[in-house]
Amino acid sequence: MRKPFVAGNWKMHKTVEEARLLVAEMLAGLQAVAGVEKVLCPPFPALLPVAAMLMGTEIGLGAQNMHWEEEGAFTGEVSPRMVAEFARYVILGHSERRAYFGETDETVHRKVAAALKHDLVPIVCVGETLAEREAGATEAVITRQVRGALAGFPPETVAAMVLAYEPVWAIGTGKAATPEEANRVVKDHIRATLAEMFGAEAAQAVRVLYGGSVKPHNAADFFAQPDIDGALVGGASLKAASFVAIAEAAAAGL
Ligand code: PEP
Repeated sequence: MRKPFVAGNWKMHKTVEEARLLVAEMLAGLQAVAGVEKVLCPPFPALLPVAAMLMGTEIGLGAQNMHWEEEGAFTGEVSPRMVAEFARYVILGHSERRAYFGETDETVHRKVAAALKHDLVPIVCVGETLAEREAGATEAVITRQVRGALAGFPPETVAAMVLAYEPVWAIGTGKAATPEEANRVVKDHIRATLAEMFGAEAAQAVRVLYGGSVKPHNAADFFAQPDIDGALVGGASLKAASFVAIAEAAAAGL
């Protein structure tokens, strides 16, 4: 059975001081949730202080992005070596990166390769926009993004990754996909594409999260879906009580 996985993406929220307060508030509650992989993804400045707070716990730390190069003249960027000093996970290809910062399937692929080289677990995001959905292009977009991000990696490596299906129209809008629809996309488009590329075993082993307006009141419905293994949580991870409640809902589904 795939271990449930819940990650909080704080996006560009929280100073170091605010991050410390948030983690202090959620630490005991999160630690009490057993059987679920829990990951916090603060902005870069808070990685080090949050890493210190999570030391000795089973709660993982993730970055929200990184460059693919080891080091060099890339002003403003953060390298995989720098991320790997503190974090074990890295979110790659988030739709906000694709929409506002020119990220493409090709750059996501490079970043996935760099993450693997540094023993980081990539959390690879895919998802269609509202216009793509309304044009009936969901399958084509998801398939292209999955292929673009993951082509050429060994099946056992892909099996250990985490993917997130995040329909762009559901992120931060309060309008989540229905759990059944999200499960259908994960099963018919994401896992089916993975099965074609890497075989059925890898496609079944990889954990696929849903992301897009997951809240305490709807989380359990997503976790009850057979092909959804957890959630990538934005807004609701900025409040200790709601993120802990979502992690508890994942544990309750075990
Ligand atoms: C996200 O940041 O990936 C996300 C899904 O955000 P929200 O939960 O706020 O929709």
